[in-house]
Amino acid sequence: MTPKIEAFLKDAEKDSPFLVVDLDVVEDRYKRLNSAFSEGHIYYAMKANPAKPILERLNQLGSRFDAASLGEIMQCLETGVDPKRISFGNTLKKKKDIKAAYDLGVDLFAFDSEDELDKIAEAAPGSRVYCRILVNRHGAGASWPLSRKFGCSSAMAHELLMQAKAKGLVPFGVSFHVGSQQLDPAHWAKAISDVATLFDALGEGGIQLQMINIGGGFPARYQEDIPSLEEFVDYIKEHMTASFGEKWPEIYMEPGRYIVAEAGVLQSEVVCVSIKDFAEEIRWVYLDVGKFGGLAETIDESIVYQMVTEYDDQEMGPVIVAGPTCDSCDTLYERTYFQLPLALKTGDKINILSTGAYTTMYASQGFNGFEPPKEYFI
Ligand SMILES: *Cc1c(COP(=O)(O)O)cnc(C)c1O
Repeated sequence: MTPKIEAFLKDAEKDSPFLVVDLDVVEDRYKRLNSAFSEGHIYYAMKANPAKPILERLNQLGSRFDAASLGEIMQCLETGVDPKRISFGNTLKKKKDIKAAYDLGVDLFAFDSEDELDKIAEAAPGSRVYCRILVNRHGAGASWPLSRKFGCSSAMAHELLMQAKAKGLVPFGVSFHVGSQQLDPAHWAKAISDVATLFDALGEGGIQLQMINIGGGFPARYQEDIPSLEEFVDYIKEHMTASFGEKWPEIYMEPGRYIVAEAGVLQSEVVCVSIKDFAEEIRWVYLDVGKFGGLAETIDESIVYQMVTEYDDQEMGPVIVAGPTCDSCDTLYERTYFQLPLALKTGDKINILSTGAYTTMYASQGFNGFEPPKEYFI
């Protein structure tokens, strides 16, 4: 927790749940990645947290933006982002949205199928396109895998990028995503090598691709220690050289979680502490925020957040942590061995760390009548 956030939480007696985001941490993470990987261009994956103050700060710093929908593109444009700095990176787009984006000046589109390519060729003629390939199909190493749904085989990418040219588009590059909260850098190595093979094969056919998009996946710190960002970047650069030699194509990257997760703290209140039988030791701790209030990444207990209370120097005991709604899936940690202080009681505050990414945007509109968490930017 940063001193700024600590001061904010001390001063403000605000109704929970709410998320507070320290924009200086966002700036710090952007700068750290930008300086570690100065050869690359950062396309911030907006879906992690598209709040206007975050977009404004990143735009001032020179970031580019990876948008998933026309809505996100509009949010960028309202912030004053140059449409030439936006990538429409979702491989699933309605044709009318592709056309609207193109009319607004966006000229870079992702695809992973012939159907999508045809839509882009018709709705955004002459645009630059990049093909997403399927890597790390089983999501190994990633706490929040998202790789199985997207991407095509390299052989198919080869064929589709040739078709792209024939359809009047600019075959610009290849992208992949190794899975979110990826803790093992080795997954980038294999993917980079696959992309280099594709570059060579297309080059022989007279198509010179210009860009490799290494996606997102850089981790944030939750409960466990993680390798440093620099370890990932150095490793990726080594493998760029191993696969491409000294002459690299343009490198795009799409960090989301890494940029914003650690900038946010979600404050929650304990609604109830209970046991299911007098003989039981394990307590149930119910919070005023759960899966429907933004903690969706606790699905399958994938992301295990660190929770801070005022009694952390006192004796701890095992708990099951759950949200406030009348839905039994709204249990956060049951399999994960989770401990909270024995002194914790109804009405106490719990600060949930590293919640700047993939939280508030996931919150339901008011399931069970619970408002989504408010957001403060400092
Ligand atoms: C979600 C997503 C990202 C961001 O991933 P992080 O793991 O948050 O860095 C980047 N690119 C694409 C295409 C995505 O879908």
